[in-house]
Amino acid sequence: MRYQELSHWLSTVDEPLTPRPALPGDTDADVVVVGAGYTGLWTAYYLARADPTLRIVVLEAEIAGYGASGRNGGWCSALFPTALPALARRHGREPALAMQRAMRDTVAEVGRVVAAEGIDCDWRHGGTVLLARTEVQLGRARTAVAEAREHGLDPDDLVLLDAAGAAARCAAEGVRGGTYTPHCAALHPAKLVRGLARAVCRLGVRLHERSPVTAIRPGAVVTPHGTVRAEVVVRATEAYTPALPGHRRTVAPVYSLMVVTAPLPARTWERIGLADRETFSDYRHLVVYGQRTADGRLAFGGRGAPYHFGSRVSPGYDREPRVFAALRRTLGELFPVLGPDVPVDDAWGGPLGVARDWSASVGLDRSTGLAWAGGYVGDGVGTSNLAGRTLADLVRGVESELTALPWVGHRSPRWEPEPLRWLAINAGLRVMSSADGVERRTGRPARRATALSPSWATDPSPSPPPPPAHTRR
Ligand SMILES: Cc1cc2nc3c(=O)[nH]c(=O)nc-3n(C[C@H](O)[C@H](O)[C@H](O)COP(=O)(O)OP(=O)(O)OC[C@H]3O[C@@H](n4cnc5c(N)ncnc54)[C@H](O)[C@@H]3O)c2cc1C
Repeated sequence: MRYQELSHWLSTVDEPLTPRPALPGDTDADVVVVGAGYTGLWTAYYLARADPTLRIVVLEAEIAGYGASGRNGGWCSALFPTALPALARRHGREPALAMQRAMRDTVAEVGRVVAAEGIDCDWRHGGTVLLARTEVQLGRARTAVAEAREHGLDPDDLVLLDAAGAAARCAAEGVRGGTYTPHCAALHPAKLVRGLARAVCRLGVRLHERSPVTAIRPGAVVTPHGTVRAEVVVRATEAYTPALPGHRRTVAPVYSLMVVTAPLPARTWERIGLADRETFSDYRHLVVYGQRTADGRLAFGGRGAPYHFGSRVSPGYDREPRVFAALRRTLGELFPVLGPDVPVDDAWGGPLGVARDWSASVGLDRSTGLAWAGGYVGDGVGTSNLAGRTLADLVRGVESELTALPWVGHRSPRWEPEPLRWLAINAGLRVMSSADGVERRTGRPARRATALSPSWATDPSPSPPPPPAHTRR
């Protein structure tokens, strides 16, 4: 497989992506981690840093960064898949605020480690601007700020922007206002994950690539090359989890797709802005997300690709011409300066993991030694770092502020069997995209869409929705 072709990011790392040696045979370890994306690597990193005597093995089916970690939008944000008001309703105000603070600190922590480890991943802590381009979107921006204030967040966390303030950051067509938060950094995702892989290897972690795990059980994981016996087994397989025996309904893989332009001339950037490399989006339902890359391109993504029956994940699903065309159209609408037929240099996609209740979680079952983290929806770049630090504490039996956070030990319900899962997820996606069309045409909020909107399809800031009607409890 030519790993460079998986994403613009993997094609622009300065290394050949040659797989590291596979697991050579049966071995013993203290901790074995399955999956070398951000989750698995952050877990190995913090464990090795905290206790250099631990014998840690990481097993990766392909290469480090093969999954979403090598393909994403590069927003290292403080966004958590469950929005603050919903977290407060579920767990209480204080635990919800603690989660929010932990996520905010996570952005700084990732910045600290990339500097300390010399990981050159084009890090720029420029915040996020969310644009409102219709009256309805402006209403959502106001609500987001009002909810933030109710929960004690101040303008240093989230501020409402008027038309001029929003356009000063990102001069998209028809901007009427928006919000700005400083809690996000733009980065080159593949440079981060590949740099992390090198960092854990320097710390003595044994990372074996092209070593697919076929079974996870208490005390051991099995691969075609041999078995690794370890007291603790960490599952860090996110959207690929359903392929593991016993996990078919643990998370649903949903695809997000991206395009990237050629480097844009300085005069174009003078018109667009994003001078601080702010990540950007707007308050529509079906989420879009963008960043100005360090080499002056626009990298832009969105959801809307179909969910595939049986939670199947396949390289053939990474490219969806209909979605790529919609992304180019949307970029052209946002920035007419790009011309009517926005030229793109590359287009790709990948699967992200969605839990049935849209709740990310991290945990360790002490009776079995089985640990897990994931279900981040589209917010895993930052959240996986928090997961890795938390797992390092859990595995070492350390009680900390992190292990007391409300997502620790949470067990999401399983997804419905097929064909219900396929029907519900794809219906949700269709409702989202038609809702945006209705709002554009009528200028009024599409209420049915708001009630059904799943957080992986919509902007991450609104409260997560109830489950689809047929299973509502
Ligand atoms: C296009 C796109 C854009 C996104 N944009 C953003 C964004 O801007 N900001 C954000 O916060 N989040 C974003 N996300 C989500 C984010 O990328 C993920 O949440 C995050 O990368 C998850 O990291 P992970 O390590 O848990 O999973 P992954 O990176 O998917 O890693 C899982 C790894 O496990 C390996 N694996 C799976 N099964 C096995 C097995 N049986 N044996 C061995 N290895 C196995 C896989 O090969 C893979 O390398 C985006 C996702 C996509 C797809």
